[in-house]
Amino acid sequence: MWDSNPLISGMANGNPSPKAGERALNATSVKCPSCASNIFYEPELGGMMCRNCGNVYDPDTMEPRGSFGISKEHDYTGDSDISEDDKKRHEIVCNSCGAALVADENTMSTMCPFCGSPALITKRMSREFKPDYIVPFKIDKERAHSIFREWLDERKYTPRGFRKKCRLAKMTALYVPFWLLDCCVNTEMSGTGKVNGIPNEISSKIRYYVKGVPFDASINIANKLMTAVEPFDYSGMVRFENKYLQGFYANKYDQIPTEMTDRIMKRMEKYSASANELVARKYPGYESRLEKDYTFLSEISIKYCLLPVWFITVEFGGEQYQFAVNGQTGEASGQVPTSEGADLYDRIMSKIKNKAALPVPMYVFAAIAVLLWLITMDSLKPVTLFKTAVVIALSVTEVAIIAFYVLLFVLKSLHNHFSSRKDKTAYEINDYDKEPDLETYFDPMRKSDIDIKEIPLPYAFLLAGRDGRI
Ligand SMILES: [Zn+2]
Ligand SMILES: [Zn+2]
Repeated sequence: MWDSNPLISGMANGNPSPKAGERALNATSVKCPSCASNIFYEPELGGMMCRNCGNVYDPDTMEPRGSFGISKEHDYTGDSDISEDDKKRHEIVCNSCGAALVADENTMSTMCPFCGSPALITKRMSREFKPDYIVPFKIDKERAHSIFREWLDERKYTPRGFRKKCRLAKMTALYVPFWLLDCCVNTEMSGTGKVNGIPNEISSKIRYYVKGVPFDASINIANKLMTAVEPFDYSGMVRFENKYLQGFYANKYDQIPTEMTDRIMKRMEKYSASANELVARKYPGYESRLEKDYTFLSEISIKYCLLPVWFITVEFGGEQYQFAVNGQTGEASGQVPTSEGADLYDRIMSKIKNKAALPVPMYVFAAIAVLLWLITMDSLKPVTLFKTAVVIALSVTEVAIIAFYVLLFVLKSLHNHFSSRKDKTAYEINDYDKEPDLETYFDPMRKSDIDIKEIPLPYAFLLAGRDGRI
């Protein structure tokens, strides 16, 4: 597949591997070469995946593409024998939101760090927990608190009383389970664009490696919140040892990578789109012929790692707001509510912005209004009731128009005054931070490839005969 010409392979019609799809329909008897379980074609992966061991295979050649499984040292899926270490721990389950926490026998909790509920039940460990790696906390409670307060101060347009509630809120340190993905990303695109002014068929294949892309394995924690406090500095990552957990809570994972392939692929496709965008930009008027660039992963490997996060849960106006501070780097995030006044202001400003030429007619209007008024004043004599009424009506209208423009002017000046917002609405300022881009997780130590083909369209007919289409 990789070596075939996308112009003449199935890729040209937007389906990179029609054979794979057909095979999937008759795939009832395909067995995993590694564990002999039945395996099936996973459309979002573009490959065959074994849900038992996590291994992924090329649908055409059955070549291995790596594994979404976790290291064989532990059985992560069932109620396997509980280790001596785990016997010393207990599990705390929140009766209100269902969050499951792990702590050593000396750590007690009074309140759920996710929902603030005091309804906690302490149980014995029900499932093996031991992670492979951990990034220990580097930021203590005091630091985390001051970072959070500074971060909150930058979010200016909040409802009255919200900050005060935040400042009084409790912080909880929590080790969050993450799956860290290392893999090779293969992406292909195909379309038309100009080379020296001549329309060309453009096809490109890019292969690059990513390292340590984190996916949180906890259902109770908003994915958006976790991506917003990324990245973590993996140079601080060490093999897991029990001592790191003393005095802290850890969250138990409740999702394994084979259950999260759609989330994983969505993020990798975003990264591929940004890589392909760099190629497309070289060709003026580039138009893709595919609805979506084709992406598949190979050399997949997963690490199970606990990452340190401070959590703050605030209840305000009947709603729950959750904030997080990266326990290693101090990156803070969350979604702060915006005040109604700020929202109203933004709505008015967006209306005004659409009428960019307003400041000019403002003065013209004012001049015409004064002139009109002078003329009517002059023709007033002799005074009649009708003429007086006309003058009053005109004056009121003119004054209203002038007042309206003065108001706009004031609003515009106010807007300039708040130029620190850089044309962002209060909502945008108060929203989650964006997730890190491809550059953050790109692995420069491993060689990436790029292969671009340009075929001038006048010659594309030479290829057309091969499958009757270009
Ligand atoms: Zn298997
Ligand atoms: Zn809870």
